[in-house]
Amino acid sequence: MIKTKIWHVDRQSNTNSTNQEQNKKLYSELIEGAEMLRSGGLVAFPTETVYGLGADARNSEAVAGIFEAKGRPSDNPLIVHIADINQLGELVLPYPQLAKELMNRFWPGPLTIVLPVQPDKLSPLVTAGLSTVGIRMPDHSVSLELLRLSECPVAAPSANRSGRPSPTLAQHVLDDLDGRIDGIVDGGPTGVGLESTVVELEDERTLRILRPGGITEEALIEAFPDVCIVKEHVNDEMVEKPRSPGMKYTHYAPKGELSIVQGDSLNVIVYINKQLEIAKSENKLTGVLAFSEHVSEYKADRVIDCGSEKRLDEAAQRLYAALREFDEAGVQFMWAEACKTEGIGGALMNRLVKAAGHQIIYV
Ligand code: AMP
Ligand code: MG
Repeated sequence: MIKTKIWHVDRQSNTNSTNQEQNKKLYSELIEGAEMLRSGGLVAFPTETVYGLGADARNSEAVAGIFEAKGRPSDNPLIVHIADINQLGELVLPYPQLAKELMNRFWPGPLTIVLPVQPDKLSPLVTAGLSTVGIRMPDHSVSLELLRLSECPVAAPSANRSGRPSPTLAQHVLDDLDGRIDGIVDGGPTGVGLESTVVELEDERTLRILRPGGITEEALIEAFPDVCIVKEHVNDEMVEKPRSPGMKYTHYAPKGELSIVQGDSLNVIVYINKQLEIAKSENKLTGVLAFSEHVSEYKADRVIDCGSEKRLDEAAQRLYAALREFDEAGVQFMWAEACKTEGIGGALMNRLVKAAGHQIIYV
């Protein structure tokens, strides 16, 4: 059991401020965590997607610690986080011009780009033996400053125990990893609430989305109208030899049984209420994840409001906390309203479908 240290970072400094006083404060709050990272420790930190669990990506012992703390399968590679584009040179081999354009357009931001890895520069545990590495630059002043101060490329998967929802609050990290990691930088709630979009380049004109996320398909199409965008993740469960090892794992599974209900709102409400009646007659604890517009329609033990159906960005921010809340309440059967797959809704439905183990009911 390790004593997990917590640093509370002033939310004020959690902006991209040029104010010298604030920068100094951020420095003093992060220097200890950065030194821990540099000396092989495990430090969780906020990003604009979810909380990450960081370790020096060059240090195999440190990286092995991530897999151990999370209970993560060793064939699932880690994303490397950088604060400065100049760090790329020593991590990767020459890459297509399109990758450069993606970085210019979307970094810092929730886009992970899979690039050819430079041999012997990163721990082989980071790449899980692949010849590529996923890299991104987070758009969050706390993570950027921590990465800068650590002076190392930082491998960082989501800071949850494997199979649990990703953490969107420092408290979630503490719930999962207290006593298993060296420190947590508490910078308040994360932004997007879902993990980064992972892309791979097939050639100069073809982009493959391996995992939908904070950078939407629409944003990619708008930025690169001439590039062919292939969605690898659509048939997640059918991929026999997945391009992205993470695809074959059931992530984000709540303890109870979750079903997604898709269809006309009225039908969805009628269906879910009927299921609630049945579950209650069997004395089961029930939960519903609903949009604000329909919350008052449901008579479950726990009804969680994920915001207006017109604000899917808010639903994305709330999803993982909601799944954790169901777990804590010991809910045995849950139903979630489906949403449109436009914009961030694409990533939201992808995570929801995974959490539900692909259990979708069409009404
Ligand atoms: P997480 O660290 O939990 O956010 O998961 C990282 C995701 O990125 C997983 O789904 C990985 O399989 C995927 N990933 C990381 N590196 C690579 C890579 N080199 N090639 C393909 N997918 C990758
Ligand atoms: Mg994860």
